[in-house]
Amino acid sequence: MTAGDVVLVIEDETAMRRFLAQALGSHGFKVIEAGTCAQAVALATEARPAVILLDLGLPDGDGLELLRTLREWSTTPVIVLSARDREDDKVQALDAGADDYLTKPFGVSELLARIRVALRHARAQTVTEDPVIAIGPIRIDQARHEVTVAEAPVHLTPIEFRLLAFLARHAGKVLTHRQLLHEVWGPRSTQHTQYLRVHMAALRKKLETDPARPRWLTTEPGVGYRLRDE
Ligand code: CA
Repeated sequence: MTAGDVVLVIEDETAMRRFLAQALGSHGFKVIEAGTCAQAVALATEARPAVILLDLGLPDGDGLELLRTLREWSTTPVIVLSARDREDDKVQALDAGADDYLTKPFGVSELLARIRVALRHARAQTVTEDPVIAIGPIRIDQARHEVTVAEAPVHLTPIEFRLLAFLARHAGKVLTHRQLLHEVWGPRSTQHTQYLRVHMAALRKKLETDPARPRWLTTEPGVGYRLRDE
């Protein structure tokens, strides 16, 4: 992260906003705060934050609506803060363009880790796309359609390759079942989560040291999957 990166905190609970401002401020971020949707839109436009933290329950509107509005003109990473531990909210937020979510209560170190991932992604998108993605011991050559683990070649089916490459292009980020199915199988298949289970199991067998306790290809229960990148 860069010293002085601006984080916009959109949260109506004063105590939570103070906590976030204090925690992030002490780690070198410049924090700006909004307590309502209206303030949030104004600040997101004027201050051009590097990351946005968004509480879903706001007094003058729905956080999801705000997220959709932001996504009409902004690609700034958005991390949703949800007090409601409901999978539907998380899935809807991710489908609406959120980059990640945290369920309250969460720790400062976890928050900082998620912000680091979001910033790294935002920066990676601005540089030229490298056809080779390396994540831990896994190396994916998108141009040659070749995958190695600890330098040993691994044979993947075309579907497995598409699934892995899509996860790798968004490494660190949770991808919903819908997003994965849409990308790999197409728009007609977004209900078929069993396809995913089967192919993720196959990928884990080929890529993970212990497929039953995956180190890289993790399940986000009820939401989707994530390829960890650290
Ligand atoms: Ca709230």
